Amino acid sequence: MAANILIIEDESKIARFIELELIHEGYTVSKASDGRSGLYQAMNGSFDLILLDVMLPQLNGLEVLRRIRMEKQIPIILLTARDAVMDKVSGLDAGADDYITKPFAIEELLARIRVALKKRQTGMQTSHLITIQGVCLDEDRHEVTVHGQEVELTNREFELLHTLMINKNIVLHREKLLNEVCGYDYLGETNMIDVYIRYLRTKIDDRFGIRLIQTVRGVGYVIKDKDGETNE
Ligand code: CA
Repeated sequence: MAANILIIEDESKIARFIELELIHEGYTVSKASDGRSGLYQAMNGSFDLILLDVMLPQLNGLEVLRRIRMEKQIPIILLTARDAVMDKVSGLDAGADDYITKPFAIEELLARIRVALKKRQTGMQTSHLITIQGVCLDEDRHEVTVHGQEVELTNREFELLHTLMINKNIVLHREKLLNEVCGYDYLGETNMIDVYIRYLRTKIDDRFGIRLIQTVRGVGYVIKDKDGETNE
């Protein structure tokens, strides 16, 4: 099925040029010529990818990006002006998948679109289930099973386990975990993380006789692929 692409760009000549090229490549295309209507279309339509200009009337592209990201994980490629380094940095920080600097060669834009669409597809196929050491976490159903047996977790325990599992083999600082699981309101109260880790160990490690969550003294915690060497 042809991918559906939304172009949010106020310069009508550029928008029209991209539109014709994309249609030629077999994509379905919609256009918006200011930030506000672009945001509206992005939120209410069903698009596979968005090309988003940064300098837009009514609502600038970075703000549009932020608002889309609050609700949708659709791939977004920013169209930035030459030398607008800050736009690129804040764009990627705000969740853009890629950016391309104007003026660009259409072949390069098409190549980046293909990459972003492909990444989305593989992401969709693999992002639902994460399995490590027999512990299987289902992101969609918010469920955890160990060797097929269901484990009842609270939301925060689930979020903590999820954060550790998607970052497997990376030692995560307690501050970072706290921020992911509890949010800014609990800044500094890292011992809360130790408490949730204890709950998780009781429910998973102890019950099933595995060593899933490892402590890295003075730093934080890590879940490793294999129950191997520890830094304790
Ligand atoms: Ca513009």
